[in-house]
Amino acid sequence: MPKKKVVITKKTDKPAEKKVAKEVKKTKRSKKDLITVTGMRDILPQDQRYWEKVRAVAKQISKDYGYDRIDTPILEYADLFTRGIGSQTDVVEKEMFAFTDQGGDDLALRPEGTASVVRAYIQHGMLNNTQPVKFFYMGPLFRHEKPQSGRYRQFFQFGFEAIGEDNPALDAQLILMGWNALNDLGIESVIQVNSIGCRDCREEYKKALVKYYKTKSKSLCESCKTRISKNPLRLLDCKEDSCKEIKKDAPQILDYLDNNCKDHFMKVIGYLDELDLPYVLSPFTVRGLDYYTRTIFEYWAVDDSEGKNALGGGGRYDSLVKILGGREETPACGLAMGVDRIVAKMREKNIEVAEERIDVFVAQLGDAAKKKAMVMYETLRKNGSFTVSQAFHKDSLKKQLEIANKMRVKFTVIIGQKEVGDGTIMLRDMQGGVQEVIDFNKIERELKKRLEKYREGAVIDLTQGEENNNKMSGNVSGGINENEEKNEEIEATERLDLE
Ligand code: AMP
Repeated sequence: MPKKKVVITKKTDKPAEKKVAKEVKKTKRSKKDLITVTGMRDILPQDQRYWEKVRAVAKQISKDYGYDRIDTPILEYADLFTRGIGSQTDVVEKEMFAFTDQGGDDLALRPEGTASVVRAYIQHGMLNNTQPVKFFYMGPLFRHEKPQSGRYRQFFQFGFEAIGEDNPALDAQLILMGWNALNDLGIESVIQVNSIGCRDCREEYKKALVKYYKTKSKSLCESCKTRISKNPLRLLDCKEDSCKEIKKDAPQILDYLDNNCKDHFMKVIGYLDELDLPYVLSPFTVRGLDYYTRTIFEYWAVDDSEGKNALGGGGRYDSLVKILGGREETPACGLAMGVDRIVAKMREKNIEVAEERIDVFVAQLGDAAKKKAMVMYETLRKNGSFTVSQAFHKDSLKKQLEIANKMRVKFTVIIGQKEVGDGTIMLRDMQGGVQEVIDFNKIERELKKRLEKYREGAVIDLTQGEENNNKMSGNVSGGINENEEKNEEIEATERLDLE
């Protein structure tokens, strides 16, 4: 278990000053009670289309390459991550949201996805399935990091894991999948690739690294001074300028790979060349989690000149299944993409994601018509070939049509008192402004027919649509408003004479 975890306890023997300090802290925090927790944020309705787009692309990629969806719990036993990710890593040592629950169990909000997927693979006996077993996941992760642009305490990833295969073609294909996802979203990226070898060759490399850094220890930052003995590979990840300078002459892992690891890596590179992927060999990329072996990679936007926010990354983790209690050595490889950063990049680059447009709006006027429209809506909603919307909470036809205009629907069907009486319905083409009376029972068929035609021929000119909509709402306010005030019972057709 991690020694430095955040544990909820009920100690009562705190010195008085500490108690006071805690009170102050509490008062401060209570002001913030009704806002999001530091480093966590709401994803508001107006932003959802970007997130949906990323999820849709991720799902498509999972289908294209045969990865099946898995959802694992957000809470796991904390030692899944201490054992899996490594107790000396930043993620486990400093960033895990870990606590002891009411029943005394040590739990953690998952800081990453791979360990949970591997746990599921072992727990459900998937070692006996045809290998590799290929998983796709999406969801929130939690790390208690210092919040800054592109770095949150709750963030989202989608990821792919292929467990039970060591063929280098799998590594290359996973690298391709992440790149394809970014490319399909309109983000140009470059892949940094490295191999950190197996445990054996890495040990030799670590020794060389320690030897080199010991000679430079005076010029290292405080964190790196402790990294020399605790986690030498992380020395290569330091963002301090002085340490970055020292890194330039550090030994490179590629010189320490044994023949098998070298051969494996050369094959991965060979596939990447064949696929014409934009990659660079990046001998100092090490990644933050201990379980990686051999191939590792990261995706960077081509215009991320500061190199601060990788968009995703992954690698091989051939020992993790065994570490987490699997019966035998089970090679595996995977990747995770950061959805928050991908969405931010899409917005930064003004990549447009079209809003989903509703096809048909159902409007009503008068109580009897509202009842009929509500029932009809249930049929239209299930039709499967067009989308519908409504505002049954509104009585005013003018208000409903304003809503329909805002949604830029293609058709509005309007049912009023007269229509209820004679079994008809008014169908209005919102772009052309043409409206016709249709037999109530034929409305679904007519809508389908018209929408099919519309889709075949439509090059939708939104400005034109807006003009028409504005024109129409002008007519509506002139006609309907007055009428509404005068007499609610007036004949529906008169009131719907919008032209
Ligand atoms: P990792 O699980 O550390 O390999 O991270 C994979 C990807 O997740 C990174 O390349 C980022 O895009 C994203 N990511 C990791 N940590 C955070 C964070 N704290 N906030 C936002 N995105 C993150």
